[in-house]
Amino acid sequence: MKILIVGGVAGGATAATRLRRLSEENQIIIFERSGYVSFANCGLPYHIGGTISQRDKLLLQTPQSLKSRYNLDARVRSEVVSIDRVNKSIEVKNLETGAHYTETYDKLLLSPGADPIRPAFPGVQHPKILSLRNIEDMDRIIESTKQENDFVVVGGGFIGLEVAENLIEKGKNVTLVELSPQVMAPVDIEFASFLHEKARGKGLKILLQTGVERFNATGEGLEVTLSNAQTLQAGAVILAIGVRPENTLAKAAGLAVGVTGGIEVNRYLQTSDPDIYAVGDAIEVKQLVSEQPVLIPLAWPANRQGRLVADNLLYGNTHEYQGTLGSSILKFFELSVAATGLNEKMLKKLHIPYQSIIITKGHHAGYYPGAKDMVLKVLFDPKGAILGAQAVGEEGVDKRIDIIATAMHAGLKVQDLQEIEITYAPPFNSAKDLINIAGYAAE
Ligand code: FAD
Repeated sequence: MKILIVGGVAGGATAATRLRRLSEENQIIIFERSGYVSFANCGLPYHIGGTISQRDKLLLQTPQSLKSRYNLDARVRSEVVSIDRVNKSIEVKNLETGAHYTETYDKLLLSPGADPIRPAFPGVQHPKILSLRNIEDMDRIIESTKQENDFVVVGGGFIGLEVAENLIEKGKNVTLVELSPQVMAPVDIEFASFLHEKARGKGLKILLQTGVERFNATGEGLEVTLSNAQTLQAGAVILAIGVRPENTLAKAAGLAVGVTGGIEVNRYLQTSDPDIYAVGDAIEVKQLVSEQPVLIPLAWPANRQGRLVADNLLYGNTHEYQGTLGSSILKFFELSVAATGLNEKMLKKLHIPYQSIIITKGHHAGYYPGAKDMVLKVLFDPKGAILGAQAVGEEGVDKRIDIIATAMHAGLKVQDLQEIEITYAPPFNSAKDLINIAGYAAE
């Protein structure tokens, strides 16, 4: 069988290596538009700041290593420009030479990811307005940090906050502009307010409920005009106001696209064409609590789907993708903030009845030095079904949210959290953990 894969990073590379592990028989070709395959997108902000000092550490595989280890044909700087579903072929543009060629397939997998949104603000084409998606983008941002001192980051989501933090770590003067009343949409405002306060303490200026109106080129850089008529001077701007699923190829091929703009797939990750599957940021998924169609552009779903789809491509539709909870976490200077499931804003919007518990407690026994306060919120319905949770603190935030995500996956009720037997010794925990207390409080 000949399997073609569009996109060679999280979903695409995972599927390709799994396909090869399952069988040595098939011809597998990966097409990647950028100059790199299987790179660590999630690590990009940390090379900008210098925490990940070696650029090479971000390159998990190369076309050469994919060939020698997995016998995969990975073609970088190769953009798939169209799909001919009748003849089961794709048209590829070699971005080095400009030449076009076709390649036929038995099965096609789309993992083209999501593109940073660039609204049509006047002046947005300025070369110093950058965004961060791939290695090339990261190199451009690093180059700008060598020349510029004043940065404006537009957007207070994961990428905007991570880039802002890393620019501050590099000693830059950074202003972050966010249209909504809070940064970090996956958590409710009382959790985001910890981030607002931390930013102030670190000299990162955050302007909330403020939009960008336009950009003007100045002699040395840019002037950013905001919705409140204020202007900011910047050497460079990082646009991080979210991403949009890369659906152009799928749409042009007549594949069904869902209400969110994501490529529509069934539970086997098969598109409306039975020979074409799709995974990752580009697809619409079912949110596991609300059962609504959503876009959740995160690495775990892309990897999980990549592995699962390989089995379905080879053996027919044997593995179902259940849906996505949307578990996420952000490091912001010394703080961690994490969430899973739905938050209160979403529950209100969806008119889902809920109750909430908020607990503040040290992440380990208070009498052992170094205990850091953590705030945990658990949301549940009148019957006890857990709808979501959020936590903020300096230590142990990931552990608590991961336990709750596991409990949600297993269908445990909020009261069942009392029964979870945690590991305990004073440097790690309390004999009665925040998770257990949430269960007691909900009784
Ligand atoms: P991608 O990994 O983006 O791969 C898609 C690839 O397809 C792209 O490289 C693109 O060039 C290529 N492509 C698109 N169209 C074509 C075409 N027509 N022809 C050829 N190639 C094409 N997620 C987390 O869960 N945690 C994090 O901490 C986190 N941090 C992140 C930090 C940054 C800076 C970024 C950008 C993302 C981060 N993510 C994080 C998100 C995570 O990286 C994505 O969810 C994941 O990579 C999606 O996988 P994918 O395969 O769908 O798309």
